Amino acid sequence: MRAVDLIRKKRDSGELSREEINFLVSGYTRGEIPDYQMAAWLMAAWIRGLNRAEIAALTEVMLHSGEVVNHSEIPGKKVDKHSTGGIGDKTSLILAPIVAAGGLTVPMISGRGLGHTGGTLDKLEAIPGFNVNLSLEEFRRVLRKCGMALIGQTAEVAPADKKIYALRDVTSTVENIGLICASIMSKKLAEGIDALVLDVKTGSGAFMKKEEDAIRLAEVMVETGKSMGKRVVALITGMDQPLGRMAGHSNEVVESIEVLKGRGPADLRDLSLDLSAWMFFLGERTKSVEEGRHLAESMIATGQALEKFREGIRLQGGDERVIDEPQRLPQARFHLDVASSASGFVASTNCEQFGIALAMLGGGREKKEDRIEHAVGLEFHKRIGDRVEKGEPLATIHYNSDAKLAEAKNRIADSYHIGQEAPREKPALVRRLIGV
Ligand code: URA
Repeated sequence: MRAVDLIRKKRDSGELSREEINFLVSGYTRGEIPDYQMAAWLMAAWIRGLNRAEIAALTEVMLHSGEVVNHSEIPGKKVDKHSTGGIGDKTSLILAPIVAAGGLTVPMISGRGLGHTGGTLDKLEAIPGFNVNLSLEEFRRVLRKCGMALIGQTAEVAPADKKIYALRDVTSTVENIGLICASIMSKKLAEGIDALVLDVKTGSGAFMKKEEDAIRLAEVMVETGKSMGKRVVALITGMDQPLGRMAGHSNEVVESIEVLKGRGPADLRDLSLDLSAWMFFLGERTKSVEEGRHLAESMIATGQALEKFREGIRLQGGDERVIDEPQRLPQARFHLDVASSASGFVASTNCEQFGIALAMLGGGREKKEDRIEHAVGLEFHKRIGDRVEKGEPLATIHYNSDAKLAEAKNRIADSYHIGQEAPREKPALVRRLIGV
């Protein structure tokens, strides 16, 4: 078999067999197939699409590219959540400590920034010293001690996703149902969980802009998880505007801590509680989702979730003092307001552009080797439906270099659409449930 033939086959709309997919993924993971051939195949797959059999084969081959972890020596249920990604989506940092404090184990394998979206691993690395590259043995040790551990794909667990994910990030091959399903489900099924809650985003800041595509993606992932004996549910949630008020790595850690302290923006708090509630229910910690929601609320109200986050940071080598002294996180040197050019109401936003602007300022990668600047960020002052006066700030940019500042600022300003009347309905946060 030759990679060049499999690229041509997909380019010409052919269906790849399991053996062919295995040849490509295994060869690439071992370093025998170079980046440029994998990138060409990914682009062909992105354009031509993958059918159900190909998606199943790709997911399975990627899952078995490394070890499928068994945590049976840790008592109790293991649950996790994965979001398809958006702007300001930081719920993992909030719900992992809530759910671990509530008595379940959360063995979370996450990703870095992808396309215009931020990644949990990059956000955690804003905390000085925080190590997301634990070995399998260290992962287990942290899980046993505090019930939660957040790491990246490793050479041992989901190594195919580790490499393919980084390549998709910089080759515009992200927004494809088959590639997303294989990426998410291969690492989630490898981490040794009993149950999984999926947060599938839809709207202008999501990979799936149309709700029907988000539903299709959710159905494929739920079906994949269930076929492997896991309890899986997907919430279809809105990403028509940023989640919370902050985007960027240090900023998002600060806002997550705010929510764990019982403060923070209502939309972020609500979604984190809803997702935690489903995790408690699927993990059989509570008899209903409502009971799960009460338990999640009490983990915040009693300060147990915050203390769990502190312990998790310490056990992964991070500086836990950031909890009380956020100025210990990397700070941007300069701030610049983006003012509204008109008076009226925020009718909608082109949310994806906020993520692109942030990446241009150093908060994302354009090449695989690029380093993230954790200090840069965006602060959003206006949400859909809010009244705004001409000249009033819509957002504030936190930046260190003005190299691409003007372009980023224009993108942000152009992404707020101001109308003369308040929109009739504000976008719903949770729109639908799949898999129940
Ligand atoms: N999250 C992932 O882990 N992979 C994707 O492809 C998209 C979101």
